[in-house]
Amino acid sequence: MRKPFVAGNWKMNKTAAEAATLVGAMLPELDKIDAVEIVLCPPATAVPAVSGLVKGSKVGVGTQNLHWEESGAFTGELSPAMVAEFCGYVIIGHSERRAYFAETDETVNKKVKAALAHGLTPIMCVGETLEENEAGRTNEVVVGQVKADMAGLSAEEAAKVVVAYEPIWAIGTGKAASGDLANKVIFETIRVPLKEMFGSAAAEAVRVLYGGSVKGSNAAEFFGQAEIDGALVGGASLKAEDFLAIVKAAA
Ligand code: PEP
Repeated sequence: MRKPFVAGNWKMNKTAAEAATLVGAMLPELDKIDAVEIVLCPPATAVPAVSGLVKGSKVGVGTQNLHWEESGAFTGELSPAMVAEFCGYVIIGHSERRAYFAETDETVNKKVKAALAHGLTPIMCVGETLEENEAGRTNEVVVGQVKADMAGLSAEEAAKVVVAYEPIWAIGTGKAASGDLANKVIFETIRVPLKEMFGSAAAEAVRVLYGGSVKGSNAAEFFGQAEIDGALVGGASLKAEDFLAIVKAAA
């Protein structure tokens, strides 16, 4: 049995003070939900405040990126040890980072390995563009990402990765995929390749999330699917009642 997993990606929203207000508004309720692994991913400047506030609760914290090197001349970057000082999780390879910050499968793979080496749980994002989807290339694109992004991991390491399937056309657009479609894509492009790469036990242990316009009103449609173990939530994670509704739907 895979434990349901819901993460909020706050993107470039919330100052540290605003983050504290949001956490204060939802933490007491979130902390009552034992059945779901819950993770908040604020911007880096708010991470220390959020991590202090959730200390002693069941809620985890993650950053939205990290660099694979241990230290050095990488202006603006966060090393794995810096992230691990405050967090247990890190989002890697989000489509916005791939599109706007030149992230490639090669760098995603290095970041996944660096995160695991520092005891962080990577929330590794994959997904096709609208153009690729309309050209019937979804399976080819997502299988390619999974294979390249997780290349060289041991089965034990692979089992610790949380994979988020986020069709790019569904992110922030209000046009979510259907639960059935997301389930089919996840089975064919993530679960099956993981089994080929790492064997059944590891493939069955990996939590796979759906991401893309998840809201309180459609979350149950995704969480009722056999292959979907939770959600990576963008916009709806910025409002306490919306995020709570999604987490409750996963419980
Ligand atoms: C995301 O950016 O990971 C995401 C899923 O965004 P939204 O929920 O706003 O579509």
